[in-house]
Amino acid sequence: MNPINLGMTETLIGQGKVRALMNCDIERIESDGALPKVVFKSAQFSEETFDAVIFALGGMSPIDFLKTARVDLDTHGEPRVNEKNESSVSGLYVIGDLIGKKRGGGSIIAGFNTAAIAVSELVKTHFERDFPPAFVSLDHLKF
Ligand SMILES: Cc1cc2nc3c(=O)[nH]c(=O)nc-3n(C[C@H](O)[C@H](O)[C@H](O)COP(=O)(O)OP(=O)(O)OC[C@H]3O[C@@H](n4cnc5c(N)ncnc54)[C@H](O)[C@@H]3O)c2cc1C
Repeated sequence: MNPINLGMTETLIGQGKVRALMNCDIERIESDGALPKVVFKSAQFSEETFDAVIFALGGMSPIDFLKTARVDLDTHGEPRVNEKNESSVSGLYVIGDLIGKKRGGGSIIAGFNTAAIAVSELVKTHFERDFPPAFVSLDHLKF
């Protein structure tokens, strides 16, 4: 959750306007008349009928995967990369959502841009080839 949304959510929880059910998984959602009834996996939470259910998906960097690949992480758990998105492992580039929020990860356009920068650099430095014309003018893609 980004800091703005987190702050708003914590405020609403503090005001008693939002009830947070932490660490609970949903088993299934059934119909209770016209309303959704949520059945939880954990016995700690009883099934409950709500006014509505809103699905909100998100994700986080697979830190263990990056560690296994020996990619250096900063104190926020985001991979350390150079300006061409090459990680601490020579020839291993980090792109898209893996790049971390500080460098723009978490959006489709950042996914395209980080990939374009990494691929153009990878082709240039590791394959010793000229770019195809379509890849020549990527220097303007900076964050
Ligand atoms: C609900 C939702 C809504 C969003 N809405 C927007 C939006 O409106 N605008 C926006 O800019 N961004 C949006 N985003 C964010 C955007 O989708 C991501 O930032 C973007 O897709 C990241 O691209 P990516 O290539 O890094 O990862 P992904 O698009 O997640 O691609 C990773 C791919 O790797 C595959 N994969 C994973 N593990 C393996 C494996 N072991 N072997 C082989 N393949 C594997 C996955 O199946 C997937 O196809 C949204 C995200 C979510 C979840």
